[in-house]
Amino acid sequence: MAVNTTADWSDPATCPYCGDDLESAGAGFVDHVDDNDPCKREFDHWRNNIAGDLAGEWGG
Ligand SMILES: [Zn+2]
Repeated sequence: MAVNTTADWSDPATCPYCGDDLESAGAGFVDHVDDNDPCKREFDHWRNNIAGDLAGEWGG
């Protein structure tokens, strides 16, 4: 699964929320948010926002 990035996330090797280095881009980020609750909350919040934006167009 590809992880879509936020608009201002310019470095995929770094967590956009806390700035920590990630072991690898994409999969490393998923592992990172699993281990870091504050980052996980931010990521979930962002993902829910995306889902909400798309719901109107993808409804049904
Ligand atoms: Zn982080």
